[in-house]
Amino acid sequence: MRSITIGESTFSCQPDETVLETLLRENVQIPNGCRQGLCQACQMRSLDNSPPVSAQAGLKDTLQMQNYFLPCICHPEQNMTVALPNQQGASIEAAVIKKQLLTPDIVHLVLEYQSPFNFFAGQFVNLTRADGLTRSYSIANIPQHENILEFHIRRLPNGQFSSWVYDELELGEQLTISEAQGSCHYLPGRAEQPLMLIGTGSGLAPLYGIIADALAQDHSGPIHLYHGSRDLNGLYFIDEMRELAAEFDNFYYTPCLSGEDIESEHVRGRVHDIALSSTESLSGWRIFLCGHPDMVNQTKRMAFMKGASMGDIYADAFHVLQVEK
Ligand SMILES: Cc1cc2nc3c(=O)[nH]c(=O)nc-3n(C[C@H](O)[C@H](O)[C@H](O)COP(=O)(O)OP(=O)(O)OC[C@H]3O[C@@H](n4cnc5c(N)ncnc54)[C@H](O)[C@@H]3O)c2cc1C
Repeated sequence: MRSITIGESTFSCQPDETVLETLLRENVQIPNGCRQGLCQACQMRSLDNSPPVSAQAGLKDTLQMQNYFLPCICHPEQNMTVALPNQQGASIEAAVIKKQLLTPDIVHLVLEYQSPFNFFAGQFVNLTRADGLTRSYSIANIPQHENILEFHIRRLPNGQFSSWVYDELELGEQLTISEAQGSCHYLPGRAEQPLMLIGTGSGLAPLYGIIADALAQDHSGPIHLYHGSRDLNGLYFIDEMRELAAEFDNFYYTPCLSGEDIESEHVRGRVHDIALSSTESLSGWRIFLCGHPDMVNQTKRMAFMKGASMGDIYADAFHVLQVEK
């Protein structure tokens, strides 16, 4: 008999039981639906041992690597400590060591931490300030940069957290950082696969990290970045991206502007239209989509219709809380 630990409690899993059946029998509230490994509503994460491979069927490769599994089809092979995706792991403290404008609206924030912290470039964390206000932001750097996390934060007019970062947050101040979350990151293994990355505004943050990671891991297939914004206030790192394209033969960069008054050097149009019309088929491509939720959700569908496999589409929509005004 195997034991299942969740939070402070440990339960025995009977030989013929799944992890989900054990937890439900013990009145632990776990969202669930089909109980056949199809709907993925009960998705959990093993915090210690690797889950059985059969219990990860159908999950994205990036989630499998992080030990996510489906408890409804999991007959444990060893004792497991598990958590729901929204159960926070250990958080750490970090201090602001750099704050600089990338555009009139977007701040480059660099935090330094001292405790051990694991992440993949492109994942996101929840940042919490001293009074408890918390928002999600994507990590823009690769783990090789020791003890540093970089963020690109766009100021929303009257946005509580982003305006505070922009106007008030000072060097040396501490923020609390949750464990890194999300499946939108690079995985080595299919080095020749073409990559297409599409982002709007500060959606470049995770894509920047993913590109740096792919290049650092010798990705040899073409890497196409399309960065879009309505106007120039949303585009940044233009010179850096052009320098990267000059340095790496397999990296291509297309900045796009969708507004009326644009300079001739930029491609005009909506970033996802331009990106998707650049190729006949997306069959065999790996796609990364980050930024405005409308763009992300629409492009996910369009990329699938154009031949990309759903398993090869990685996305983070920058949803904002809907605040009554
Ligand atoms: C997984 C994930 C990753 C994210 N990563 C990033 C990131 O890397 N960089 C980043 O900048 N953001 C990112 N975000 C968004 C971020 O979490 C916050 O939602 C955002 O910064 C706004 O927070 P706020 O407290 O400033 O605004 P809030 O105080 O929460 O206010 C939001 C309000 O602003 C309104 N609003 C929305 N858009 C506009 C607009 N254009 N103009 C005026 N009002 C508007 C909304 O209706 C809502 O009422 C991410 C979100 C998610 C879910």
